[in-house]
Amino acid sequence: MSVDFTIIGGGIVGISTALHLAERFPGASILVLEKEPALAVHQTGHNSGVIHAGVYYQPGSLKARFCREGLAATMAFCRRHDLPYDKCGKLIVATDDAELARMEALHQRAQANDLTIERLDAAELRRREPRIVGKGALFVADTGIVDYTAVTRAMADALQASGGTIQLNTAVRDIWEEPDAVLVDTDGGLIRTRHLIVCAGLMADRLAEMCGLGADFRIVPFRGEYYRLPAEKDDIVRHLIYPVPDPALPFLGVHLTRMIGGYVTVGPNAVLATRREGYRKGDIDFRDMAEMLTYRGFWNVLRRNLRSGLSEMGNSLIKRRYLALCRKYCPELTEEDLLPHPAGVRAQAVLPDGTLVHDFLIKNTARTIHVCNAPSPAATSAIPIGRHIVDSAVERFGLQGGPYAAQPLPQAAGGRV
Ligand SMILES: Cc1cc2nc3c(=O)[nH]c(=O)nc-3n(C[C@H](O)[C@H](O)[C@H](O)COP(=O)(O)OP(=O)(O)OC[C@H]3O[C@@H](n4cnc5c(N)ncnc54)[C@H](O)[C@@H]3O)c2cc1C
Repeated sequence: MSVDFTIIGGGIVGISTALHLAERFPGASILVLEKEPALAVHQTGHNSGVIHAGVYYQPGSLKARFCREGLAATMAFCRRHDLPYDKCGKLIVATDDAELARMEALHQRAQANDLTIERLDAAELRRREPRIVGKGALFVADTGIVDYTAVTRAMADALQASGGTIQLNTAVRDIWEEPDAVLVDTDGGLIRTRHLIVCAGLMADRLAEMCGLGADFRIVPFRGEYYRLPAEKDDIVRHLIYPVPDPALPFLGVHLTRMIGGYVTVGPNAVLATRREGYRKGDIDFRDMAEMLTYRGFWNVLRRNLRSGLSEMGNSLIKRRYLALCRKYCPELTEEDLLPHPAGVRAQAVLPDGTLVHDFLIKNTARTIHVCNAPSPAATSAIPIGRHIVDSAVERFGLQGGPYAAQPLPQAAGGRV
């Protein structure tokens, strides 16, 4: 099979990228390869469903830019495709003096990111959320909830309507780059493509390595475990309720999330996972484990975050400790309120010195582009990420927008990488 553009990964980032390609290059052949029998079954289908506003991210970073653009773009996409979303707003609640100080720093960061934030005192917090307690809070009106699986499916329908092809049950096993094409070896046969874009989430490092790009980072998987509140607590909060996060970690802390299905989840925490695509506690994959244990960066993460890592593990194993995290701001919750709910696993790029990469990370070779790190808020940001990847393709592959048949054959320097 021979195609113009191949995209590996049927999560929201891969499908958004494919849709942008179809819009920018009418007439080009576009093929999405997904190893699972359905789209969005990994990170895109196991998350909190929050459309983030962009409070937390380093001003000027890709995350800050794409989150801001993604918020508006996601809501506009939902309106266009008749998908439900709710701009319910969120509260970031400080429960002690140390958190109040960190909350002030967060307020400044939000202002640097051009967000409009309201600062609430304890009484005003109580007035707006009678079942939540705290010494103060930030109110972020520009936050919403959505079902990202539904968004991905709607994008996939639009892609197929414009002539793109999605091939499920097709795992990529190897990649070779040649001067005028890329060869993709799949368990369904060999594909020859002019350009390749890889959006493989939890497998990003393995596919990057096939193209000679994986040496300076590895994906370390972090499980995010959730509980769900019983139906009689569906109305416990009007907004999303977040704690003040630890600024050193790219995770937001256990929060109360109203879901688009009408119920409320508690979570997620962040514990090291023993299987990249394993959703049950105790799931182990020996290849995943071996790669993690032989990676210097993994040991450096442990060394740098030993205290918080052990504490997260304790909270995961002992429900009472997990409960304590949310009782700080929602004291009425009891152990009986924490009902089972499926976990998610985050793909987190880690550098050899143990640095957790906070920003989105995108790398390329002459004919391939790899999304190497797309953690939260990549679901919110998927539309601008897709647009950015296509802009990079135009620039790096020497393409012009417009009908693909008219494109000159790019003169890319390549070779097996
Ligand atoms: C617990 C949790 C909570 C989160 N909460 C939020 C939130 O509220 N808001 C938000 O914006 N973001 C959130 N995120 C982040 C968001 O879900 C992810 O950033 C986003 O879904 C990443 O999308 P993706 O397409 O890059 O990855 P994925 O959805 O993981 O898709 C990658 C796809 O690549 C496929 N693939 C991999 N290897 C191969 C191969 N060799 N051959 C073929 N296919 C392959 C996989 O099967 C998979 O379908 C959360 C994530 C988690 C885990």
